[in-house]
Amino acid sequence: MLEDNYRHKGLRKKLVDTIRAKGIKDEAVLNAINNIPRHLFLDSSFLNFAYQDQAFPIGSGQTISQPYTVAFQTELLEVAKGEKVLEVGTGSGYQACVLAEMGAKVFTIERQKKLFDKTKKLLENLKYFSIKTFYGDGYKGLPTFGPFDKVIVTAGAPVVPNDLLMQLKIGGRLVIPVDLENDYQEMILIKRVSETEYERQSHGKFRFVPLLSDKARD
Ligand code: SAM
Repeated sequence: MLEDNYRHKGLRKKLVDTIRAKGIKDEAVLNAINNIPRHLFLDSSFLNFAYQDQAFPIGSGQTISQPYTVAFQTELLEVAKGEKVLEVGTGSGYQACVLAEMGAKVFTIERQKKLFDKTKKLLENLKYFSIKTFYGDGYKGLPTFGPFDKVIVTAGAPVVPNDLLMQLKIGGRLVIPVDLENDYQEMILIKRVSETEYERQSHGKFRFVPLLSDKARD
């Protein structure tokens, strides 16, 4: 049942306060987090944890990212209404919904078939019709649907995939956690300034599950 009651809404307001206190300023991002019933994206055994600022397991060995991390990546993207955004790593679908709430047209790719099927159904039930889900290898992006205004990768990548750089519009932004040592990643923002030039900025250390190549064999 897709219930969203006053208790959930109250917990969500507190979560927004926590994220704001940690430094997120983009009101559109905070508003999206305030509007999305995060408890519906977790397995029911985690219901009581849905509004803590923590990552949680979602099956198939994967996680729903920590709300602060979702907010941080989204703020770096500077999403505007009507933009085309590619997400690599659909997972629970929560990040895709944050982007959709901000008015983006979202194209999201997941390599785990079970997770893909489960999340596709959830997003349909929640009536997020501006999100298109794809089962496949996010390293390759979606060449037939690009170029994109923004690209977000929500798994730790060993390198910045060239296909994703190529599918970014000039003036576009790509946010991706890139592997450092010891299972940590550096949050990288890349701006495409011309056909051949890209600017790169670092935005601190985070921890993600790995971006794996090809579809999962499960
Ligand atoms: N954005 C998600 C959310 O809001 O719940 C969290 C994503 S989780 C931290 C990372 C996801 O990336 C996992 O679901 C994993 O299966 C997926 N993934 C890993 N490698 C991938 C690839 N090459 N292509 C697409 N998805 C991939």
